[in-house]
Amino acid sequence: MKIRKGDQVLIIKGKDRGKKGKVLRGFPKEDRVLIEGVNIKKTHKRPKKEGEKGQVVEVAGPIPISKLKLICPKCGKPTRVGYKSRGKEKSRVCKKCGGEI
Ligand SMILES: [Zn+2]
Repeated sequence: MKIRKGDQVLIIKGKDRGKKGKVLRGFPKEDRVLIEGVNIKKTHKRPKKEGEKGQVVEVAGPIPISKLKLICPKCGKPTRVGYKSRGKEKSRVCKKCGGEI
């Protein structure tokens, strides 16, 4: 996956378009990531026991990475990611400034 945990990303599609956030978790199988403070859904938690109150819980939903752009930590711009291989290691490269991410 091009986006990793800890990356800063910009949302470019959907209702959260224009928001920025940090990737908290990746779901590589689904090509989705969880972003801090983005795509918050309110869900109602039912009381488990009698006498308990139901609660409204805010849960962040994962977003498909096709809706995101990585923000390059070097130049601070939203960018596409390229790859550069150095021997066996593959590193990510910013397409805008050429810096390694
Ligand atoms: Zn850059």
